[in-house]
Order: sequence, then C-alpha cells, then structure tokens
Amino acid sequence: NTQTSTSKIVLVTGASSGIGEATAIRLAAEGHHVVLGARRTDRLQALVEKIHSDGGAASAHRLDVTDRDDVRAVVDRVVEEHGRIDVIVNNAGVMPLSRLDALLVDEWDQMIDVNVRGLLHGIAAVLPHFGRQGGGHVVTVASIAAHEVVPTSAVYSASKFAAWAITEGLRLESDPGIRATTITPGVVESELAEHISDPATQDFVRVYRRNVIPADAIARAISFALDQPADVDVNEIIVRPAAQR
Ligand code: NDP
Repeated sequence: NTQTSTSKIVLVTGASSGIGEATAIRLAAEGHHVVLGARRTDRLQALVEKIHSDGGAASAHRLDVTDRDDVRAVVDRVVEEHGRIDVIVNNAGVMPLSRLDALLVDEWDQMIDVNVRGLLHGIAAVLPHFGRQGGGHVVTVASIAAHEVVPTSAVYSASKFAAWAITEGLRLESDPGIRATTITPGVVESELAEHISDPATQDFVRVYRRNVIPADAIARAISFALDQPADVDVNEIIVRPAAQR
C-alpha cells in the first residue's frame, strides 16, 4: 500500500459492496479521504470502521443516486466539510438482466434511473464545485456492456452505452482541469447478479459469470487513473478476466 503524494477527497457511490467497496478500501489505503455513499448505511458504517482501524480516512452518507436533491446535498456536505471535492466515482449501478419480452418494465426503469440518471445526478452535483475549484475528476464505472449487446442485456447495455457517451461528452466539453475516465469492467465478483429476478436469465448468467476477477482488479484501474499527473487524462480502461470471451 503506497502512500500517494497528493491526498484527494473522493466520493464513491455504491460503496456498500463489490467494486465500490473495494475501491474505497484501496483509495483509503493509498492516503485519500474516501466518502462512502449508498443506501445500506449499516454496511457503510462497518466499512468506515474497517478503514479507520487500518489507519485510513473515511466518512459515510446515506445516498440514493436516483434522487437528484439527495446527491447534490451529499456533494455539498462533502465540500462544506473538506473545502473541496476532487473526485466522484460514479459506481452505483444495477443489472437486473432479462429479455425484453419478459416485460419487466419496472426493472428497465430502475436501470435507467440508477445507471443513467444516477450518473447524471453525480455529474450535476460536482460540476459547479469543479468550476469553482478549477478542476476535478469524474470516474464512471460503465461495463463491457457499454460496447456490446447480448440477449437479455438490451436495457442494461443501453444504460451503459449512455454512461459511456455521457462521460465522453463531459470530457470533450470540459476545460482541461476537469478529467473524465470511463472504467469498463468485464465479469467481476460482486453482488450485482444476485438481483436478477428472471429465472431463465439467472441460468444464463450463472454460466456467463463462471470466470470472475476480484473487485480489487477494478479498484486498481481506478487508482491508476486518479494517480496520473493533472495533465494526463486516462479516458478509458477495459479490464476483463483473462478467461472472458
Ligand atoms: P454490487 O451489487 O455489489 O454493488 C452495487 C452498488 O450500487 C451497491 O453498493 C449498491 O448499494 C449501490 N446502489 C444500487 N442502487 C443504488 C442507489 N439507488 N443509490 C445508491 N447506491 C445504489 O455490484 P458491483 O460492485 O458489481 O457494481 C458496481 C458497478 O460496476 C455497477 O455500475 C455495475 O454496473 C458495474 N459493473 C459490474 C460488473 C460486474 O461483473 N460485477 C461488470 C461491469 C460493470 P445499496 O444497495 O446499499 O444502495
């Protein structure tokens, strides 16, 4: 665990499990102050305690990324407490895969609300502060589904294509002080697939997700992007299990 020269204030959404949790642990170990956001506050509190006992700096806020005011309030609180926000890791996401003809329309809405609107809410909340500070870094955890569609992934892929496009648009429109990075994971160990409700899809996904890599593999990619000098913007990192086809 190497200490970085510059300690950043980093908000990680969806920090209560999987990639967000691993990212919070790694960035805290590297000397950053991590602010954890998610809905399961018991999980966040336990993680804050773990980070503190490992000598790191962390705090937590209940956060529902589908609620625009909630996201803005948490980001504003971070800036009140620390004077700035350097990085937002827009990681919160859901993946209730199913075929379109299963008509699980509430789950379609949920994917759009969390994976697309949630990302936009994060960007909207940090940009005014980034403007005032003269910079900042938006990291989007997209997915390999941002580049491909498979049966059952139509809406999830659409949400991740959107996340990719929004992050690229932000990069193109922003002053050089603002960096935008898309992190594009393949199959990663987490709770993501546990929320698939469609039985036929569960069977398909069990086979597809045989080869997983640990969430820390993604945390390392995020850490790499953060640690670059201010004039270097890592635009996208694709990280798949070596066995994934
Ligand atoms: P997990 O299910 O383990 O974690 C998802 C996180 O998102 C949880 O912390 C959850 O917290 C949070 N979350 C869900 N809904 C909301 C909400 N409305 N508001 C705030 N937080 C929310 O899965 P992963 O760690 O795998 O997923 C993280 C990201 O990685 C997602 O964007 C996912 O699409 C992406 N990804 C994952 C891959 C994988 O194979 N695991 C592959 C490619 C991309 P809580 O329920 O406490 O709110």
